[in-house]
Amino acid sequence: MSGGDKLDFEIRPNPAPVSAADRAALLANPGFGRVFTDHMVTVRYADGKGWYDARVEARAPIPMDPAAAVLHYAQEIFEGMKAYRTADGGVTMFRPEANAARFADSARRMAMPQLPEATFVDSLRKLIEIDREWIPEDEDSSLYLRPFMFASEVFLGVRPANEYLYVVIASPAGSYFSGGVKPVTVWVSPDYTRAAPGGTGAAKCGGNYAASLAAQAEAIEHGCDQVVFLDAVERRFVDELGGMNVFFVYDDDTLVTPPLTGTILPGITRESVLRLAQDAGHRIEERPVSFADWQADAASGRLREVFACGTAAVITPIGTVRFPDGEFVVGGGGSGRVTTALRQQLIDLQRGKVADPHNWVHRVI
Ligand SMILES: *Cc1c(COP(=O)(O)O)cnc(C)c1O
Repeated sequence: MSGGDKLDFEIRPNPAPVSAADRAALLANPGFGRVFTDHMVTVRYADGKGWYDARVEARAPIPMDPAAAVLHYAQEIFEGMKAYRTADGGVTMFRPEANAARFADSARRMAMPQLPEATFVDSLRKLIEIDREWIPEDEDSSLYLRPFMFASEVFLGVRPANEYLYVVIASPAGSYFSGGVKPVTVWVSPDYTRAAPGGTGAAKCGGNYAASLAAQAEAIEHGCDQVVFLDAVERRFVDELGGMNVFFVYDDDTLVTPPLTGTILPGITRESVLRLAQDAGHRIEERPVSFADWQADAASGRLREVFACGTAAVITPIGTVRFPDGEFVVGGGGSGRVTTALRQQLIDLQRGKVADPHNWVHRVI
């Protein structure tokens, strides 16, 4: 069953789901990552057997042996995506095949088995269908989907595990940053880097996030919302934020974003923004941007806007940049015209409000 074969999911509805009244109360202000739906998907893998036991079942703790490999050597990957409620009562996902392909790439890098892409997309569909009542209605909200996979084999030796568990959970989500779409302040870390050439920067693995937390804590200590990482070799060029890619908008309407050289996570929002910007007539460039140029071009006014992008926060303007020697603002510290337009266009596209020339929107219901 490991090849291209599609697995059938056994559906075991939760015998004790959250009541409609309690669910409505939770959905009124879900925040991010705190409220969960009634179900989860689980699929098992064992060497020699392939993928098996695909289920949709009641969300519950996962029993784990203390010697489960993931607890020691962190063989774990994940994805993050959203299901959106459309005006006509339908439900959409945005480019789930791209997440499926990236999940397989991450698996390869972490020496894990690759879940067939059709099974990945099917697993999301099944969970959305059974938990559809949990998708918030309002414009800024969505159902955040978290597929992940980890080494479940009980073994302390250091080698790729031969048993894995793939899981999908879902969490209704309001706006990611507590302040809504206000511009954020970022901290340029002088000490920490996120990913080195040849490392795991392009894989969506929990380990990358573990390694970013001290830097993120440093950002918070300095009154910033997020950390910006510079490249690990020269400490000169901007890589990305802890969980978002970054774009620079210049006064000649060119959009620039750092190239995918293996140290940056290939964001699906990043790629979508590149296409949308090109469609809108912007020049786009994938090239390195140094921190020195960021500062100089912000001062001269040539750099008009900077924004971060990713599934969770969509597109968020970066207003202020802080570093050990000082700080500067970009474009007056507000949300720029191009940032605002791209954000609205992406949101409208994801919710099926505007034409979808690239066939990105995947109708679920
Ligand atoms: C997930 C992620 C992103 C954004 O990717 P999207 O596909 O746009 O959600 C950017 N950087 C890092 C480090 C990430 O983990």
